[in-house]
Amino acid sequence: MRAKIVAGNWKMNKTYGESKSLVKELKTALNGVKLNNTRVIIAPPFTNLQKVSKRTKDTVIEVAAQNMCAEESGAFTGEVSASMIKSVHVDVVILGHSERRAYFGETNESLAKKVDTALKNNLEIIFCFGEVLEDRKSGNHFEVVEEQIKKALFHLTSDDWKKIVLAYEPVWAIGTGETASPEQAQEMHAFIRELVAERYISDVAEEVSILYGGSVKPSNAQEIFSKVDVDGGLIGGAALSAADFSGIIKAI
Ligand code: PEP
Repeated sequence: MRAKIVAGNWKMNKTYGESKSLVKELKTALNGVKLNNTRVIIAPPFTNLQKVSKRTKDTVIEVAAQNMCAEESGAFTGEVSASMIKSVHVDVVILGHSERRAYFGETNESLAKKVDTALKNNLEIIFCFGEVLEDRKSGNHFEVVEEQIKKALFHLTSDDWKKIVLAYEPVWAIGTGETASPEQAQEMHAFIRELVAERYISDVAEEVSILYGGSVKPSNAQEIFSKVDVDGGLIGGAALSAADFSGIIKAI
């Protein structure tokens, strides 16, 4: 059975001290909560990765990096490699977030390279994709999403897919307060699962977790998560508050 996942992307928020407090609050908020096949993942900024990884050891909370360099090592000033992430006991990386695509020029092609490097280093990937508002308005959203997935992931083997989590994040719903309706999310998730099933054996499609991201809050989480092809969420703003994030986890 595929896992349910609630992942929190802290983006460029929380200093070292603030991240320690948030982890502490989160541990308290999750104390005694029955997770039933649900994974909880948090993605702090790089400066806090090691501390958060240490502080969550032996808890239900897993830790992810928010990005990673496609190169293994060398003269790439300011970058962080897959092996550096692994060396602080972090086994998951978020790749392809729309903010990385929009502000840092990441493309489907450059992401394919990052995906390969991550897998080579045995990192699990939360792979983000999603259409912008103009694509949705013009009815191109399925095509755009298909291309994003095909170009970055369809060269992988079925076995590689054991390390892939998909995160559908319509860009128009990220940080805007506007959420895709549960029906819109389900429609896209079912389309994605079918796409994967056509390319691979159906087991791969059945086993891959597909998360929804875009203004998920405790108040709307349950309705979105109730859809059969929505296996959890990638949470931005609401992941910065232990009460909100744990509320979303409880909703699943
Ligand atoms: C995100 O950035 O991945 C995200 C979903 O943000 P928010 O929840 O704030 O819309």
